[in-house]
Amino acid sequence: MTQLGTESRPLRVAVVGAGPSGFYAADALFRSDLNVKVDAFDRLPTPYGLLRGGVAPDHQKMKSVGAYYDRVATKNAESFAFIGNVNVGVDITIEELKSYYDALVFTYGAESDKKTGLPGEELPGVHSAREFVAWYNGHPDYQDLEFDLSQEVVAIIGQGNVAIDVARILAKNTKELSVSDITDKAIKSLEKSNIKEIHIIGRRGPVQSAFTELEIREFGELEDSNIVVDEADLALNDANKQEMEESNKAKKNYNALIDLSKEPKEGKKKKVFVQYCKYPKEMVGGTRVTSLKMDKVQLEGEAFNQKAVRTGEEFEIPAGLVFRSIGYKGTSLPGIPFDEDRGVIPNDKGRVQNLDGSLAAGLYTAGWIKRGPSGVLGTNKPCSTETIKCLLEDVEGLAPCQNPSTDAVLELLKSRDVRVVSFEDWKVIESLENEKGQEVGKPREKFVSREDIFTALDTAKVTQ
Ligand code: NAP
Repeated sequence: MTQLGTESRPLRVAVVGAGPSGFYAADALFRSDLNVKVDAFDRLPTPYGLLRGGVAPDHQKMKSVGAYYDRVATKNAESFAFIGNVNVGVDITIEELKSYYDALVFTYGAESDKKTGLPGEELPGVHSAREFVAWYNGHPDYQDLEFDLSQEVVAIIGQGNVAIDVARILAKNTKELSVSDITDKAIKSLEKSNIKEIHIIGRRGPVQSAFTELEIREFGELEDSNIVVDEADLALNDANKQEMEESNKAKKNYNALIDLSKEPKEGKKKKVFVQYCKYPKEMVGGTRVTSLKMDKVQLEGEAFNQKAVRTGEEFEIPAGLVFRSIGYKGTSLPGIPFDEDRGVIPNDKGRVQNLDGSLAAGLYTAGWIKRGPSGVLGTNKPCSTETIKCLLEDVEGLAPCQNPSTDAVLELLKSRDVRVVSFEDWKVIESLENEKGQEVGKPREKFVSREDIFTALDTAKVTQ
C-alpha cells in the first residue's frame, strides 16, 4: 500500500487560494515530519490575497508579514509551487485536482460582501466598501469601477476596520497617500475629490464599536481632517458600563473616543464624523443616491444582550456616496459543499463536511472561508495550523491520488491556454513593482492588470 509522506511518495497537497491562510497552511505542512509537496493555486497572477488587495495601502508595517510568506516559499522551493492565474472550478475542476493531489485545502477567503437589504441599495452611488478597497489597492478585477468622488458627503455604514480604512483613505491628502502603495490611478482620483464630510455610521453604541483602538486614534493625526465625536454619544447606561468592564477592546476604544471627542472639530478641509445609535433604513435617491435615512435608537436590556430600540426620531445625512461596510461574505466553488447562509465551507476544525454532516474525505479548509470574515492576518495562523493538524492526523486514511505530478497539472493547464504565473515570475513582478515605486517615493507601484503583468514578464524574459 502507498505510504504518503515518504521520500518515494511525498504527500501532495493543493492549496486553493494563495493568501495568508494558504501560506500558513503550507508553512504548517512543511513543519511536519512528512515529506510534503504543496502547490498553491490562485485566481490572481500574484500571491498573498488580502495582504496585497485588502490591507490598507498606508499600513505598510502590516505588509511586512509578506516576508514571512515569502520565506515559506523560498525555504521550501523544492517542494512548493505557486500556480497563479488559475481559476479553480473554471480552468481546472475539483475532480481533476483530486486526481493530482492527495488532499485539497480551500483557503480562498471571502470574495463577496453582505448586503443591507435596505431600499435604495441598488442606486448608483451606493457601493460595497470591499470593492472600493480592491479598487484603490489595484486588484485587477476592480479597476473599471467608478466612484463619484465629486460628491461632498459620504456615508459609510458599519464601524469595522474596513469602514475605518475607507474613511481614512478618503480623509487623507495626496501628500499623506503618496508614501503608501495605493495605485497611481486612485491617488489621482482622490486628489480631485470634493469630499468634505465622511460619516462612519454605527447602529449601536461606542462600547460595541467593531474597530480597534490604534485604527480609530489615527483620525486624530490627519493633516486635512478633523475628527468629530459627539460627547453626548459617549454617555453610558449601566449595561454598557458592564460590557466595557469585561472587554479590554471596548475600554481601549472608549478611551480613544473620549480623547478624540476633545479634538478641535473645526479648522481643516474635511470632517470625519463617528456616528452612534443610528440605524440605517433607506438609501434615498432618483437617478443616484442623495441621502441616507436612519432611525435614532437607544440600547436597552441586559449587558451583552442589549437591543437597539427606536426613539421615534429620524436622522438623515445628505450623502451622494454611500459605502456599505457590514462584513465580507464567502462564495461557493463548484464541486464542494457550501453553507450559503454563512458564506463558509461547512467544516469540523477544518475538515470539510458534507451538508448531511459527514466528512468529505481529503478536503480541508482554513481562513475566512472556514470560519467567516473575522480577525487580523495573524488570526489565520492558528486557524490554518488547526486544519493542517487534522489533515496530518488523517494522512494514513487518505486515498492516494492517481496522478501525483505537478508537471501533469501544468501540462493540462497549458493545453487549455491558461498562462500560469510561477513564484519565480512573481519575484520578477515584485522587483519591477518595487523599482517603479522607488522612482516616485512609494514602497511599490503595483501592476493593476493581468495584461500589464504578462507584458512585463515577457519583456523581462527577453532582456534577461
Ligand atoms: P466587522 O469588523 O465585522 O464590522 C462590521 C460592522 O458592520 C460592525 O460595525 C457591524 O455592527 C456593522 N453591521 C453589520 N450589519 C449591519 C447592518 N445590517 N446595518 C448596519 N451596520 C451593520 O467587518 P469588517 O470591517 O469588514 O472587518 C472584517 C475583519 O477584518 C475584522 O476582523 C477586522 O478587524 C479585520 N480588519 C482588520 C484591519 C486592521 O487590522 N487594520 C483592517 C481591515 C479589516 P454590529 O456590531 O452592530 O453588528
